[in-house]
Amino acid sequence: AELIARRMKRVRPSPTAVISDIVRAMQQNGIDIINLGEGELDFDTPQPIKQAGIDAIERGDTKYTAVSGTEALKRAIIGKFQRENGLVFQPEEIIAGCGAKQLIFNAFLATISPGDEVIVPAPYWVSYPDMVALAEGEPRIVPCSEQSGWKLQVADLAAAITPRTRWLILNSPNNPTGAVYSREELQALAKVLLDSPQVMILSDDIYEHMRHDAEPFVTLAQIEPRLRDRTLTVNGLSKGYSMTGWRIGYAGGPAWLISAMQILQSQSTSNPSSISQAAAVEALTTPAVFHADWLRRLAARRAVVMSMIAGVPGLGAELPPGAFYVFANCRGMLGKRTPQGKTIDSDSDFAAYLVENAHVATLQGSAFGASPYIRIAYAIDDDRLHEACARIKNACLALR
Ligand code: PLP
Repeated sequence: AELIARRMKRVRPSPTAVISDIVRAMQQNGIDIINLGEGELDFDTPQPIKQAGIDAIERGDTKYTAVSGTEALKRAIIGKFQRENGLVFQPEEIIAGCGAKQLIFNAFLATISPGDEVIVPAPYWVSYPDMVALAEGEPRIVPCSEQSGWKLQVADLAAAITPRTRWLILNSPNNPTGAVYSREELQALAKVLLDSPQVMILSDDIYEHMRHDAEPFVTLAQIEPRLRDRTLTVNGLSKGYSMTGWRIGYAGGPAWLISAMQILQSQSTSNPSSISQAAAVEALTTPAVFHADWLRRLAARRAVVMSMIAGVPGLGAELPPGAFYVFANCRGMLGKRTPQGKTIDSDSDFAAYLVENAHVATLQGSAFGASPYIRIAYAIDDDRLHEACARIKNACLALR
C-alpha cells in the first residue's frame, strides 16, 4: 500500500537542504569542501541578543506563550514596523512564528483553495512553488530577465493575473538575485494590483537589512496604503540578525488573515520558542549597531566573487545590490567538456562539476526557476571564500 500521502507527490525536498546534506556527507568522508550553497551568514548572533536568550532561560521564561507571540515581542515588532517601514499595526495584525518560512506556509495554507493561482516571479526562493503546491494551489511562474535587473515587469504582471489569482509574491532584496525594487518600480506594480482586488500580496522582506546601496528600503504596504489591507508583510531575524537557528519570523497584515494563520499555528507548532522570542525582543528594540560592520565585510566578499567572475570567460554577473548572493550566468560553460570527458549540458551539470572537481558547493539556477545560472552565497569566512573562488576559477579554466 502507498503509505505516503498523495500531496507529497507535488513537493520536492528543499534544494538548499539537499546540498547541505551532500556537503556534510563529503565532509564526513574527509573531503575539504567549501559550501557556497547555503543561505546563511557566518557572523555570530550579536552578544546582547544571545544574553537576552540566556536571561530568559534563567528567569524561567521556558513555558508556552501565546500562540502568536508574547505581548513584549508583538510590541517590539509593532515598533520595528513603525520605525523602519512607516507601517502602523495593531497587536491583532501581528504574528510571530518559527521563521518566516512557517508564516509564509501558514498564510498559503490558510487562504489557497484547490486551483487557486499564485504568481511567483522567477528566479524565486526555492520554497515558494512547493509551498503553493502543498496548499493545493497552482504556482504561476513569471520569468524575469537578467536584462530587466531580474525584476517583475508591469506588463508581465498584468498578463499573469486571472480571476483565480490569489497571491502575488514579492521578494526584495531577492534570493537568489540580490535585486532590490525601487519605490517607482513598486508604485508601478501597485497600480496594476489596485485594479485586481482578488489578489493578495506577500511581501517577503527578510533581506531588508542586507543592502549595499544608499537607497532607503521600501516595501509595498508602505508605498501604497490602499493595498495595506491585502498585503502580508513578512520579515524575520534569520538574515538581518544572523539568527537562523533561533527560528523567529514575524508578519503584519489584515486581522482576518493573521487570525487564520494563528489558528493553523495553534494546531501545529503553537508558539515559537519562548527563549528565542525573548532574544528577538532584544534584537528588535536595540539599535543594530553591528549592521555597518557586517555590510562592509559582505561588500568586500561580494567584490571577491565579482572579480573571480570577471576573470573567468563564460561566467558573468551584474553587481547585486542586496542579499548575499551572486546569481552568475554560466551559459558560456554549456557544451564544454570536463577533464573526465563529461559534457556540461546544464547548470545542474556545471554545479555538479564544481562540487566534484573543485569541492565547492553552489546551487544551480534551475532550483530557482532560471537557467543557466548558479547561485554563489558569499556569506562565509574571507579566507575560505578566496580559496573557493580560486578553486572555481581553476575548475572553469580546466574545461575544454
Ligand atoms: N524568505 C527568503 C527569500 C529566504 O531566502 C529565506 C531563507 O533562506 C526565508 C524566507 C526563510 O527564513 P526563516 O529562517 O525566517 O524561515
